[in-house]
Amino acid sequence: MNKIIDGKLFAEGLRASLAKKISYVKENHGFTPGLAVVLVGEDPASQVYVRNKGKQTTEVGMKSIEHKLDESTSQEALLKLISELNADDSVHGILVQLPLPKHIDEPTVLDSINYEKDVDGFHLMNVGMLNTGADGVVPCTPLGCIMMLKDRLGDLSGKSAVVVGRSNIVGKPMAALLLQESCTVTIAHSRTKDLPAVCREADIVVAAVGRPKMVLGDWIKPGAAVIDVGINRIEVDGKTKLVGDVDFDSAEPVAGAITPVPGGVGPMTIACLLHNTLQQACRLHKVDMPKD
Ligand code: NDP
Repeated sequence: MNKIIDGKLFAEGLRASLAKKISYVKENHGFTPGLAVVLVGEDPASQVYVRNKGKQTTEVGMKSIEHKLDESTSQEALLKLISELNADDSVHGILVQLPLPKHIDEPTVLDSINYEKDVDGFHLMNVGMLNTGADGVVPCTPLGCIMMLKDRLGDLSGKSAVVVGRSNIVGKPMAALLLQESCTVTIAHSRTKDLPAVCREADIVVAAVGRPKMVLGDWIKPGAAVIDVGINRIEVDGKTKLVGDVDFDSAEPVAGAITPVPGGVGPMTIACLLHNTLQQACRLHKVDMPKD
């Protein structure tokens, strides 16, 4: 088997399966899942993400609603819009693109989204559900990682996993998901002592650090699965190149399976957002999510 985990291909498969399920709920339950994306300001990277999200949302047959607000929008006006979207029955998922301008308090905004329409899994209610093993919505990037790991390795039970990074959006939920799969989980961070030795013990290494090529091949146990969440832009010969947190060239020969950057975890994130939107739409309409 090819040791490179092709996230682009995996995401295509997930979107195709979602498109079938969406067409099923439209025909059998009479609703079209709708995703509202709110962008405040003109951050160029955020504009690209929002455009891609909108395009992929309509491609799988869902309704895409975009709200582009001026950089100077007040927190009060943003909260009012979210309250309207919370009350709108045609909207099943609400995503506020981060980062928000400095004058707006992100936690206040994220928690104003009805947790039943939270598709990022950032609402405290969904965070709590994930950490208590309830069936809530899971943050998109770790969800994509766990889907690819289970697809490649099957049962993860008993495997030792190291997650490097402890952010609320990647590291912590990733660790919670691995724990749910009965892995023995270590969460490493900037204060971890002898990180290479910690990683060398692991059957699964998930790198979510934001430091280009930090995890080297000799940190990896031969045959281990390596999931590289990092997206770092570096200059090579005057050109910008995307690299992960793992030094792919030295890690790939040692690993049993590895995600590349680009083309690994990245493409799965939007596909999982669409998955979460369908999941919330089914919940709000009190129907089961269609099976594969
Ligand atoms: P954060 O900056 O929020 O967190 C980084 C984590 O890495 C922190 O917990 C930090 O530790 C830890 N860390 C930093 N330096 C070291 C070090 N030298 N040794 C060990 N641990 C270290 O980042 P995010 O979690 O938001 O993102 C991580 C990466 O994933 C980024 O490259 C980001 O671009 C990418 N990303 C990719 C996504 C995708 O769709 N593929 C989605 C989201 C993020 P401490 O807590 O101690 O400071």
